[in-house]
Amino acid sequence: MIEKNILEITAELSRAKNIVIVPHKGPDGDAMGSTLALWHFLKEKEHNVKVIAPNDYPHFLKWLPGNEEVLIYENNKQIADELIDEAEIIFTLDFNTLSRSGLMEEPLEKSEAVFIMIDHHQEPATYADYTYSDAEMSSTCQMVYHFIEKLRAVKKITPEIATCLYTGIMTDTGSFRFTSTTSETHRVVADLIEKGADNSTIHNKVFDTNSENGLQLLGTALQNLRVIQQYRTAYITLSQEELDRHNFKKGDTEGFVNYGLSLAGIIFATIFIENKAENIIKISFRSKGDFSVNDFARKHFNGGGHINAAGGKSDCSLNDTVVQFNRILPEYKNDLSL
Ligand code: 5GP
Ligand code: MN
Repeated sequence: MIEKNILEITAELSRAKNIVIVPHKGPDGDAMGSTLALWHFLKEKEHNVKVIAPNDYPHFLKWLPGNEEVLIYENNKQIADELIDEAEIIFTLDFNTLSRSGLMEEPLEKSEAVFIMIDHHQEPATYADYTYSDAEMSSTCQMVYHFIEKLRAVKKITPEIATCLYTGIMTDTGSFRFTSTTSETHRVVADLIEKGADNSTIHNKVFDTNSENGLQLLGTALQNLRVIQQYRTAYITLSQEELDRHNFKKGDTEGFVNYGLSLAGIIFATIFIENKAENIIKISFRSKGDFSVNDFARKHFNGGGHINAAGGKSDCSLNDTVVQFNRILPEYKNDLSL
């Protein structure tokens, strides 16, 4: 995003009264952290600003400052459609195509607002008037920090903004361990701590609020773990029946896929989760090194994401999806075999 764009955006912001901020469907820490941080930032400038999330998000994000002000599109369609209709500026954060906004895709497409995308996924679509896209960035939260920096407003970062941004950087970098974590990420994080992000408390609030049922579901997931040494691949399945048995709540399976990658020698991990309500199998892919799960998810499972973390879905049964996955693997023999 060049200086000219920043000047134009500054002018747009000084004119606009009504602003809407949208994260992707199935919002994660980075999506909610970035949208709420921007919400706090713009609210101070006396805009009429609203975060509208396509659908609900996990309990371990419900403590984020500003959480109670978030509108869930699925549950408030009429009010949300009006807000979208009246918006002069719409920020779309942490996603690269409007289809990732679920049911909001249609009203967003109809809107005549100025669109500003801030996102770190590969292959950004071209719907936005201003696109700040950088696939090398650790997180959209880090990009929102840089965006505020470009607006020369770092001094305006409050403890609430710092807390939201810290949360998204922490969750999207696997607590600062993924290769996307750079010295610049640490510089940003250091500044956020100085500005009031309480790193230890944030970590506890996100990672140490498991329920007994949630941990037992992890037990079932690990029982279902299958390892294919030949392709350095591991996968986990969870059926709807298994989810129901452990009283599954949104967010309970967060991070399960990473257990596959924690096995010595494994570079490709997958979890298949049955969703009877949507009649799909939701899939998460993770990898280490050069094996692109973004390409894999795009090509075979109607999804996408980043090189080492992506998602997708299948309309087949859980069993058929796994069979299909096992059939595809040999195509990647050169990338996956030792
Ligand atoms: P997760 O597996 O944690 O749901 O998602 C991992 C990454 O892949 C995130 O960056 C997420 O935005 C992206 N992702 C997850 N599901 C999908 C999908 O169905 N389509 C696309 N394009 N990206 C996805
Ligand atoms: Mn992200």
